[in-house]
Amino acid sequence: MFWADKFAADASGDRIIVNDSKTPSGRVHVGSLRGVVIHDAIYRALKHAGKSVTFTYGVDDYDALDTVPHYLDQAKFSPYLGQPLCNVPSPEATATDYAKYFMGEFLEVFEHLGVRPEIYYLRDLYRSGKMNQYIDLFLNNAHLVREAYKEISKADRPSNWYPFQTICENCGKIATTVVTDYQDGKVFYTCQPNAMEYVKGCGHTGWVSPFDGNGKLPWKVEWVAKWEVVGVSIELAGKDHSQKGGSRDVANSICRKVLKKNPPTHAPYEFILVNGTKMSSSKGVGSSAKEIAALLPPELLRFLMLRTQPRSVINFSPNYDTIARLFDDYDRLIKCHEIYLQPLPTEEEILDRILNPPTQKRKPSDPMFSLGDIAQPSPALLYSQLNDEKEVKTYHPFDFQVLISLLQIPHLDLEAEIVARSSNPLSDRDWEVVRDRIRVGKAWLQDYADEEEKLVLYLDSMPDKAHNLTTEQVNYFEILVTNLKADVNWEGEELQNLLFRTSKQLEISQKSAFAAVYYTFLNKERGPKAGSLLSYLDKDFVIQRIKDAIALNLTANNS
Ligand SMILES: [Zn+2]
Repeated sequence: MFWADKFAADASGDRIIVNDSKTPSGRVHVGSLRGVVIHDAIYRALKHAGKSVTFTYGVDDYDALDTVPHYLDQAKFSPYLGQPLCNVPSPEATATDYAKYFMGEFLEVFEHLGVRPEIYYLRDLYRSGKMNQYIDLFLNNAHLVREAYKEISKADRPSNWYPFQTICENCGKIATTVVTDYQDGKVFYTCQPNAMEYVKGCGHTGWVSPFDGNGKLPWKVEWVAKWEVVGVSIELAGKDHSQKGGSRDVANSICRKVLKKNPPTHAPYEFILVNGTKMSSSKGVGSSAKEIAALLPPELLRFLMLRTQPRSVINFSPNYDTIARLFDDYDRLIKCHEIYLQPLPTEEEILDRILNPPTQKRKPSDPMFSLGDIAQPSPALLYSQLNDEKEVKTYHPFDFQVLISLLQIPHLDLEAEIVARSSNPLSDRDWEVVRDRIRVGKAWLQDYADEEEKLVLYLDSMPDKAHNLTTEQVNYFEILVTNLKADVNWEGEELQNLLFRTSKQLEISQKSAFAAVYYTFLNKERGPKAGSLLSYLDKDFVIQRIKDAIALNLTANNS
């Protein structure tokens, strides 16, 4: 059973609320999308299981600004360190405040991915008084909260420590205040100069009401209050919060001790490891959720998050291998889904297949499965769609790796080439997909591709490395020219076979044979599949270039 469906099968209750949340402290990293998409899949699975379910998403904007991100004006924002994010000004006039600005960016990505939870802001929960009852409860049971911290995370809080932070009436900071008493509906607080390493308090003290937005609960306690106010039934948490003795354990313990009830269903999910230092520093683009969402089609980005079990790490970097594999895997599932959508074979057809088995060898480009083999669609594919109706709009995929190469060949009529290389006429849907892939390919080449990943063809001049071929390589080229001149179908797979065959004829090592080809066209030792590479080029040009290389090296060897 698919992991999201398993959650749905295990969930009980009349009204289920799936919740996730985020502190909008700056530009959101693509890794933060994992939780969003995981919760969305669980929500959809519950819906499909016929359960009454709501997906809520909390914006923790009463959290303090604890660092000024490097891409913001340090001088402008440093004075706001320690203040609630919703009270910090917006970096641009497009939003009312800092929290709404960065959350707005993130919500655009939600929309792009077809994720539509009910959004709520903590500022509203606090200011509307919805949290009051729980603030009072936790302040009155401060000893139980302290006990939970001590038992679970071994954190010792002094006996006059209360689980609350007021917004200092003098300096507006929330991170620096410490509450040491609670009486007659008021807390006594001190804005401590040495409370935090990153910001100093102003020293102000006073009695103030903790209600109606005057402050917040520490976030492990706030988490529990949120579960109650929102009515959360399922909330997963990232690995960082889910360690033994970590924040989720502490929150669970507070929930049991103070509220005397079980916390919502929990499961940890792993990180997404992004290895992208090179591209982020040199290209000016990075791995923020917004940037990756601008690169990848939304279904592919969902697929990246969903095809892996939540407990497994996802390694993602927008390099050639990872991106090409992602498209390839997705396209494979699309091909399988096409087959799944076909009607089951009739008895006559089955009989016919047994009596007349296909004699042709299956080409590697064929789908892995055949008619009737696929009884169920792939859940990862279904949950990757933007609609949650479990409908997949299929298409005939055009190989993304070939597309990336074609995009780099100068003076090429790309669309004509795509038509020539497709076995069937392209439908409107096929064109829609292939044109979007062209967009992705161009963006990837421009913003993410390393120089080594680019296909630089030497069309107008002989590359330097082609000047130093070995005698063996020259001999290989001589036979190759003869073989290429024969009646060859100028197609990647066949040319690849021909290159192999020729190397066997001469008993030259494949490595050396293929290197000769790459030197002569790319000035590199390695490259994309050599057969495909030659198929992108004109036959006469290829033969002439190889002849030129032979001549050049013969002259060099003789002199
Ligand atoms: Zn202060």
